[in-house]
Amino acid sequence: MQRRDYLAFLSAVVSPFSSVHSWASGVTSPSSLKVTDKLFSLGVASGSPTSSSVVLWTRLTGLPSVQKQSNQLVPVIWEVAQDAQFKKIVQQGKTLASAEFDYCVHIEPQNLKANTWFFYRFIVGNLQSAVGRTRTLALATDDIQSLRLAYASCQNYDQGFYSAWRHMLQENLDAVLFLGDYIYEYPSLGTLGRHYVLGWAYDLVSYRERYTLYKSDPHLQAIHAQVPWIMSWDDHEVQNDYAGEQAGFSGPFGIDFAQRKIAAHQAYYENMPISLQSLKLGLKGLASGADLRVYQSYQWGQLAQLNVLDCRQYKDPQPCSFFERKNASIVKPNQCSDWYDDKRTMLGLAQEKWLEEQLKIAHQKNTIWNVLGQSTLFSQRNNGSVEKPQFFYDGWDAYGASRQRIIDQIEQYKVPNPVILGGDVHENWVAYVKKNFNANDLNNASSINVAVEFCGTSISSRAKTIVEKILPNNPHFVYANSKYRGYGIAHFEAKTLTTTLKAVQDVKYPESGSFTLAQFVVPAGTKEIIKTI
Ligand code: FE
Ligand code: CA
Repeated sequence: MQRRDYLAFLSAVVSPFSSVHSWASGVTSPSSLKVTDKLFSLGVASGSPTSSSVVLWTRLTGLPSVQKQSNQLVPVIWEVAQDAQFKKIVQQGKTLASAEFDYCVHIEPQNLKANTWFFYRFIVGNLQSAVGRTRTLALATDDIQSLRLAYASCQNYDQGFYSAWRHMLQENLDAVLFLGDYIYEYPSLGTLGRHYVLGWAYDLVSYRERYTLYKSDPHLQAIHAQVPWIMSWDDHEVQNDYAGEQAGFSGPFGIDFAQRKIAAHQAYYENMPISLQSLKLGLKGLASGADLRVYQSYQWGQLAQLNVLDCRQYKDPQPCSFFERKNASIVKPNQCSDWYDDKRTMLGLAQEKWLEEQLKIAHQKNTIWNVLGQSTLFSQRNNGSVEKPQFFYDGWDAYGASRQRIIDQIEQYKVPNPVILGGDVHENWVAYVKKNFNANDLNNASSINVAVEFCGTSISSRAKTIVEKILPNNPHFVYANSKYRGYGIAHFEAKTLTTTLKAVQDVKYPESGSFTLAQFVVPAGTKEIIKTI
């Protein structure tokens, strides 16, 4: 996609669809619409909730190519109801799906009642979508006793089945927090789980095809339809290990990275239940190519605030040159010229400033639990020995100064009950976040605990780390497991956070069972992690 096309894409998307009320020319009338029963084959989804709104999503598929080529707009009716039978409809409306956005539909009903379950569906002609269920956030004044949040990441389709999503249907959740790697851009290896025929995702057509593939999975569709999702992303929504403006070192080669990112961002917006506002706010960064605002704050009454971070779009390049690192994805601090450069940032300056504002007011707001949802493992993890430490070049360890600024702010502003949730590493890690993570002082057990961290395993992506080798040199971790795929449940109540790690037996089988791998309780006010299972 050319740059001017992207500008057109943005200006078109920023003018609200809802302003088009009459059947304009070029709109297919419902009776003449040639649709198939595949029209709603990708299901429905909702997400990015506020206390008065939530994004409702679907995408029309299986439209005859003649209809798509003539660029006909397809009228879509949407309904929001109090009940699953739609006897008590609270809002309804009509929108137009267009080829320009691959017939994706984003609806943002306003003035919904706070802290309430709703049901929604879409109708085209005489065809109806699946019924979705969603929930608005609570008002700051609402007395919320319980919040059940699943945190999940990394659903490589090539490497396994999604039984984790199926088991999650039984968890009685309020929302899913997805922390990145919704798709992977690679061609299929076909050796680990299930095969697909797509090659690299690198342009608008191929990114769209990738979302079609992933979203065709019935377990994924079911959990999308059951609860709202809160979205962040990591690298694979664009390219492995990309950093801000810098491409990663994987294929396909010879692609203009700025154009690739624009295409990836458009396909992401189209296919995710995220707000138009995320594009509008992103407009500020248009000069840098293709901003999409992902970082965002969510509030559940006085019980919990969740600040979701974007650890990918604005980050500085990984430390040390390709040659200094000898082409490896590890960094040895004593062999890396810019390891100690305290200006390097994971979040970018604007987001760092935004986060500081959130942390600054946390104490005064007096919310019980203050949660950071971010893409990867936050706490330091030395993968080498005590004498010869080495770190992953793409995570927080490689952006130590940026991490330290957050730790210092949590302390300085006395943020109540800070909890960090993460993903990306395809392994479960439970940690005390220390005041001082110092590469030269790995025996930092004496350093005080600033926060607790639960970094979750993958839905299906395979793990590489042998945790038993690493744990002895990283005493701030209270638990690690790389054997199982699954998800975590963070259950926030006034007096406790109970985090349960759920594992699937074997991702090679769609019917795989699940079990509780471990469970931890954090009593409010203590920053203590008590292992209960
Ligand atoms: Fe991943
Ligand atoms: Ca990566």
